[in-house]
Amino acid sequence: MVYNMENEVKIVVKWSGKEYEICNLSESDSVGTLKSAIHKETGVRPERQKLLNLKLKGKTPEDGCQLSTLKLKQGFKVMMMGSLEEDIADASAPPEDIPDVVNDLDIEDEEVAIESREVYLAKIERRVREYKINILNEPRPGKKLLVLDIDYTLYDHRSSAETGYELMRPFLHEFLTSAYEDYDIVIWSATSMKWIEEKMKLLGVSTHSDYKVVFYLDNLAMISIFTPKYGVVQVKPLGVIWGKFDQYSSRNTIMFDDIRRNFLMNPGNGLKIRPFKQAHLNRDKDRELLRLAKYLKDIVHEEDFNSLDHKHWEKYRPRKKDKHTVKKEAGNSGDNRDTSGAR
Ligand SMILES: [Mg+2]
Repeated sequence: MVYNMENEVKIVVKWSGKEYEICNLSESDSVGTLKSAIHKETGVRPERQKLLNLKLKGKTPEDGCQLSTLKLKQGFKVMMMGSLEEDIADASAPPEDIPDVVNDLDIEDEEVAIESREVYLAKIERRVREYKINILNEPRPGKKLLVLDIDYTLYDHRSSAETGYELMRPFLHEFLTSAYEDYDIVIWSATSMKWIEEKMKLLGVSTHSDYKVVFYLDNLAMISIFTPKYGVVQVKPLGVIWGKFDQYSSRNTIMFDDIRRNFLMNPGNGLKIRPFKQAHLNRDKDRELLRLAKYLKDIVHEEDFNSLDHKHWEKYRPRKKDKHTVKKEAGNSGDNRDTSGAR
């Protein structure tokens, strides 16, 4: 394809719900020039701009890269993430510090601004396309989906102990065995895959005979989003799973995590559990997983999880049984765990 160097390039930048037309660029201009032009229009400094769908062979182009090499259509819409200096100055501590330092209830009612969602959906789509999932055990037809965090959810990763096994949350295997009857299980941790595999081996999860995990997701399946209160944070968007597997959706997926911000892209599907910390003090007291196992059983007959409010999971009472719930429960009397005293 031959490009006329004098061709004007028209680009539209979409940022924070508004569109900005960038004119007076030619194909011989560079990405750096484009960024300066965007700066003029939006006030976002070049080094703060993340031009999400501006790609050269799948990668972010260098500033020196000529616009002609990107082969953009006239009126191409660039989705930008970026923040104004004054917003950044207001943002609090870096995200790594949030889990332990900030009471994460603060984030409870924060929602992802509708205008940003499109940008994030593009990120999620990219994860759906590019993130490789290694299936450990095939999904089972008709099962719902349970997505589990590791740190402080299944395991106290900060306390010291003789063996890692001592840091396991009480009733972990009972919980997973019970959940497995109705749910496919996925583990999602904001760390590396190698670490997840090691941990699951250590806890005896990967080799357990009474339940199987469908797959693990690591930090690379997460996306970063901008929140007014915390700046840029990493979240776990369930859309990555829903995009890859037709059988899972917001109707049948529930996710447990001790950090609510991980749910920001899908707040209705997240249940914030109490963190398991100071294992040596709490090992004899912590019954969270038993209670959660019961909740998972109680809600399993709900046609659509969107009708549930997991914030009030402890107050949930199953609706009156209809014919098929009775039938289903009759088949589930095989275990002798007592979860009745857990509430
Ligand atoms: Mg955690």
